[in-house]
Amino acid sequence: MSDFERLHIGLGYDVHAFAPLDAARSLVLGGVQVSYERGLDGHSDADVLAHAVADALLGAARLGDIGEHFPDSDPAYAGASSLGLLSEVTALIARAGFRVLDVDCVVAAQEPKLASYREDMRANLASSLNVPVQRVGLKATTTEHLGFEGRGEGISAQAVALLVRDDMSDVSGNGNDGASGASDVSAPGDGASDVSGASDVSATGDASASTGACVC
Ligand SMILES: [Zn+2]
Repeated sequence: MSDFERLHIGLGYDVHAFAPLDAARSLVLGGVQVSYERGLDGHSDADVLAHAVADALLGAARLGDIGEHFPDSDPAYAGASSLGLLSEVTALIARAGFRVLDVDCVVAAQEPKLASYREDMRANLASSLNVPVQRVGLKATTTEHLGFEGRGEGISAQAVALLVRDDMSDVSGNGNDGASGASDVSAPGDGASDVSGASDVSATGDASASTGACVC
């Protein structure tokens, strides 16, 4: 297998609505507490950026989504730090034989201005991903007052992640739950492996497919 065939790409997308003013929620993006009068609604700290990155990782590793791994029915995740969840996802994909090479993200918010927080957000994400900060790109944009972000109803985030799957001998050495996923990926790389991987994802998704959007 060539080095290129070890590369996997994933896309993550997440949306959270703003909580009511009287909810007194903090606005947390990329693990940074942003100064703003409203925070996002959610079961955890509602860090929409960290959630999008986590889903990009899980998508690239064909391991479902964060709703499956961190259900909102679990009180353990109430108010949880999503940077912590992202670290857990990084460990999860590592057990399946993957590590992060590069991530890029965009946050869409009409308000507040995020430029002054960007470097701290990048540093936090990079730390959770175990990569140098140069491997994390982050942009913020408004939507020119269009859509739910533009009306100030919520914030969305998108992320892409490039992962590399380590050599199979390393993966098999892990031996645990990652091994089954790795064996699926190791099927002949002629497209059939992609199909088998997709069927695995749909199978695991059956139990929680009704959740759909992020539950964190
Ligand atoms: Zn979320």
